[in-house]
Amino acid sequence: MADAYMDLVGSGFGKVLAKQLGLPQPPTLRRYVEGEPIAPGPVLLLGAGDTAQQLADVLLGWGLDVRRHFTDGVRFGAVLLVADSFEAPSELSAPALELGRAVKSLARGARVISLSKQAASQDAPAVAAVRRGIEGLVRSVARELRGGATANGLFLGDGVDGFNASLLGALRFFLSGKSAYVDGQFLSVSTTDSEVPDVRTAQYDGAASPLAGKVAVVTGAARGIGAAIARVLKRDGATVVVVDVPAAGDALTKVANELGGTALQLDITRADAGQVILDHARGRHGSLDIVVHNAGITRDKLLANMDQAKWDSVIAVNLESQLRMNEAFLAADLPGLRIVTLASTSGIAGNRGQTNYAASKAGVMGVVASTSPALEARGGGMNAVAPGFIETEMTAKIPVATRAVGRLLLPSLMQGGLPLDVAEAVSFLASPAANGINGQTLRVCGQSLIGA
Ligand code: NAD
Repeated sequence: MADAYMDLVGSGFGKVLAKQLGLPQPPTLRRYVEGEPIAPGPVLLLGAGDTAQQLADVLLGWGLDVRRHFTDGVRFGAVLLVADSFEAPSELSAPALELGRAVKSLARGARVISLSKQAASQDAPAVAAVRRGIEGLVRSVARELRGGATANGLFLGDGVDGFNASLLGALRFFLSGKSAYVDGQFLSVSTTDSEVPDVRTAQYDGAASPLAGKVAVVTGAARGIGAAIARVLKRDGATVVVVDVPAAGDALTKVANELGGTALQLDITRADAGQVILDHARGRHGSLDIVVHNAGITRDKLLANMDQAKWDSVIAVNLESQLRMNEAFLAADLPGLRIVTLASTSGIAGNRGQTNYAASKAGVMGVVASTSPALEARGGGMNAVAPGFIETEMTAKIPVATRAVGRLLLPSLMQGGLPLDVAEAVSFLASPAANGINGQTLRVCGQSLIGA
């Protein structure tokens, strides 16, 4: 539990009081714990066709209890709605209603996951209708789920079947506690010629050491979300280089020592920052496989009161530095380099007082779309994570009552996320299991667009 409010509404008396006052009672989210099953109960697999059959085989191989029909009295740990072969809206009716029966008896922290095709302009109208319809269904059922359950979707690209390693990697991420604060989101999976791990076998544990042998650089890692990312990358097997400004040197050294990595004091707005990072990673650790552009600043002001220094500094740190560093990394032709960058829900929905910040974060999503093909051609990729309301030291300073009202506006999960939740998404996107995911922005926002 993150704070006094969570403690109060989680206690016996507080629980009753919160209920009577109509205050939000945030559920405890199911987060990743090493060794715990990937789903907290049997998996109900709805839908027919080849993909459904392939997935049933794989899930059984993972040791899960797979059911093909709803049965009363079972508390399902996950419901998979396999709808990639649907061609008309009428086909959605039966599985949607069966899903409706199942959501009444989900285990705590259960997952609803759709597997479908993304609508495209060349689709026949009825095909496009059912494909978009699935998105509406998933995003809405996500808002109806309780007990820390979430709903997300996977889009299968051309040639992606139920045995595709990246699809299964993404499915494992969505099923597991690693996606605790990802809700109402879709990821597209395409085929890839690159090496991907065989995630079909029970022996594959996405948690074991998916980043073993990789050298990862995280900028802005002296504290906050960056430090959490560095910790999770290390947990997942990577050797970590943490980067931050010289003024944060002491905190940075502590993080590096804790993780057995190295610290690099560097202002990322320096013109040669990319080369300095490259030289450090190669010189000290022999390669550079993962870069996480996390360093970022806010200088909030209404646009009418904005001055040039506030505007320019935010664009320089959050956007222009990344552009320059990426150029250096691309020029070095690093095989399989995966870059993950931090966007923000402000860059998606806009936020009063954050024109400069939102411009920088929306810009980051543009960089992802434009840079990812070049990295994909080298066997790697680039994606963004867009955090929403994340409970950090900053949000902990907001008075308890304000925070409680804020949480009322955070629909289904009724709480902010943790830096760990952002870090889990980053580590997944940095891993070889995400090779078929490229050029995308994954929101880690508990299905809210409120955030920083
Ligand atoms: P934070 O302020 O706690 O940490 C940012 C770190 O970046 C600091 O250690 C800082 O010293 C470092 N940094 C700043 N300028 C730098 C520079 N020029 N060179 C090197 N390092 C520099 O921030 P946070 O809340 O942990 O956020 C991390 C990232 O996540 C940022 O990109 C932020 O925009 C994004 N984000 C955060 C939230 C949230 O709720 N906290 C929401 C959405 C997005």
